[in-house]
Amino acid sequence: APAETPQVVVDAHGLPYLNSHLPVRKRVADLVSRMSLEEKAGQMTQAERGAMSAPGDIAAYGLGSLLSGGGSTPTPNTPDAWAKMIDAFQLRAQATRFQVPLIYGVDAVHGHNNLAGATIMPHNIGIGATRDPRLAEQTGAVTASEVRATGVPWDFAPCLCVSRDERWGRSYESFGEDPALVTSMETVIQGLQGRADGRDLSRGDKVLATAKHFVGDGGTEYGSSTTGTYTIDQGVTKVTRQQLEAVHLAPYQTAVDRGIGTVMPSYSSLDIAGDGRGPVKMHARGDMINGVLKDRMGFDGFVISDWNAIDQLPGDYASHVRTAVNAGVDMMMVPYTYKDFSTTLIDEVKAGRISEKRVDDAVSRILTEKFELGLFEHPYADTSGAPEIGSAAHRAVARQAAAESQVLLKNAGGVLPLKKSEKVYVAGSDADDLGNQTGGWTITWQGESGTHTQGTTILQGMRNAGGDVTYSKDASAPTDGYDVGVVVVGETPYAEGVGDVGNGHDLRLSAADQAAVDKVCAAMKCAVLIVSGRPQLIGDRLGKIDALVASWLPGTEGDGVADVLYGRRPFTGQLPVTWPKSEQQLPINVGDASYDPQFPYGWGLTTLTKVPAGGTATLRALGVAATAAERAHADQAGRALVTRARLIVQQKVGGSGMSAAVAKPFADADHLLLTGRYAAAVEQLTAAYRAVGRRA
Ligand code: BGC
Repeated sequence: APAETPQVVVDAHGLPYLNSHLPVRKRVADLVSRMSLEEKAGQMTQAERGAMSAPGDIAAYGLGSLLSGGGSTPTPNTPDAWAKMIDAFQLRAQATRFQVPLIYGVDAVHGHNNLAGATIMPHNIGIGATRDPRLAEQTGAVTASEVRATGVPWDFAPCLCVSRDERWGRSYESFGEDPALVTSMETVIQGLQGRADGRDLSRGDKVLATAKHFVGDGGTEYGSSTTGTYTIDQGVTKVTRQQLEAVHLAPYQTAVDRGIGTVMPSYSSLDIAGDGRGPVKMHARGDMINGVLKDRMGFDGFVISDWNAIDQLPGDYASHVRTAVNAGVDMMMVPYTYKDFSTTLIDEVKAGRISEKRVDDAVSRILTEKFELGLFEHPYADTSGAPEIGSAAHRAVARQAAAESQVLLKNAGGVLPLKKSEKVYVAGSDADDLGNQTGGWTITWQGESGTHTQGTTILQGMRNAGGDVTYSKDASAPTDGYDVGVVVVGETPYAEGVGDVGNGHDLRLSAADQAAVDKVCAAMKCAVLIVSGRPQLIGDRLGKIDALVASWLPGTEGDGVADVLYGRRPFTGQLPVTWPKSEQQLPINVGDASYDPQFPYGWGLTTLTKVPAGGTATLRALGVAATAAERAHADQAGRALVTRARLIVQQKVGGSGMSAAVAKPFADADHLLLTGRYAAAVEQLTAAYRAVGRRA
């Protein structure tokens, strides 16, 4: 606790809500029954910590929550600075009548990306490529422990967006284009929060998680906005009711079943065919938030609005507040307008336009999570986990995730894995750039090129692996004498709509990147790694490249990328999204009527030389797995089977056989496995083997 002692206005001791032996439900009811309307309105308000020029506002408005948005990191940026900052705010909250603790939130979307020196995981798109739910859970556990150790109990992650168009600047925040894949990665929720019933939340290494952005954020249409800039982020998702259910809503029921603590509505609008309403902003959609999420799916946590999102609703400010609260939003992220929000909310309740019942429900939901987190008993930061931040054990998880996320798209002549005896010429803008490798949402909101935190670049990883490596960023003088070139190219960091194609971004490699690829690949056999948040258009250049790897945004552990490059681990990643041939094909997703991508969804060669245990017989015997243990076994056997299938394809048709016709059945089998339909997957794979056999 901070040195200064809180000034307690009323001694709350002895009141039932402070009795930790009572069930949470009773404590919540007791506290709510004592609170004034003003205090309740405060609980529903979340302000930005940078707006706290008068920290007295925490007590004056009884604020329920503070956040650090994208770029607002404390200086110096250390675990201790975070903990001290939050404790100082908490001290103010402890000086209120009922000492209701603040709940502090951050976006830790791939590790504690707000903190210098933290372990940074691959962005979600890479996690989707691993097809490894157990690993996804481990990344969540590492993230949670590093976040909580800085005094932060709440993380605005994971994004459950099903990304359907790579022109979206947030594509990399998605686990993939297939709702079944997204759903399978929701094990990350257990990693973050612990047990589904919330009983682990008070642990010093768990955080409250947020499923976002509800719903349809990944399905917005690409187009031209009124401001003249191209936009897709925060746009309109046009769907039939059936598409809405099958594609975008599907992952949310699983999140609710996994006990997700909070849900954030999307900035986007939803336009459901035939409902006669046209596009309606999600923060105004009571049919979705109250109707589907809370009533139908049974979500009992609380709904936190997105940043200033209510300002985008039609009408005056009072109507923004009224509409969102009545639609079921429980806490409002009103970073700099918290005073207006709180006073307007009070007025609207007094005028009878928002019922007290609705307010009590919202406050009860918020307080429930605060009690579950143990904040009433331990409001101040528990930094005992801080020595583990960025530890070798944590980095080992990130390294494994980086390795498993690498997707080998082409490998003509078996260029990969590299041999240590080979002389390797490394070039390209992303070979030695930690900032590019970690992408957006890293230290700052937008991220930045260069060295802004600790980790290994891909080049350093290759050197650590003992490779005989020479490096030239711009590929100057790639003269002979080298056995193989490795060119690492791709995107520079961006976040949200800033990354939309048209907003200064496209899906083509930069001129410098193209030149580096052409130069090296003309001089020697070459492997090209693409470090990016989404597929990049390669087109005919593919013919000049011997090996191609989708590296996504692998995080701080370049050693993990080097592990697969040098064969210390096999390539096993599979495409989480379709890799298009051209921009004209967008949007392109598996299952489309005319599907002719450069690489289909699920594609990914493997450098495994041995087939892991498990396989057809096991799966047949298991049929539809009943117990959790059987299911885990079946998952493993299923993955082994897919790996085996990919090996066979690779051996029979080689790197040139990536046509959709060859790969589609395997993608379908992958989908069946993800949805637990093992018996059907076996049938599918058997048929796929035969087809490959006929072709070869
Ligand atoms: C993003 C959210 C994020 C919030 C807080 C918004 O701009 O859409 O994903 O949680 O900012 O940083």
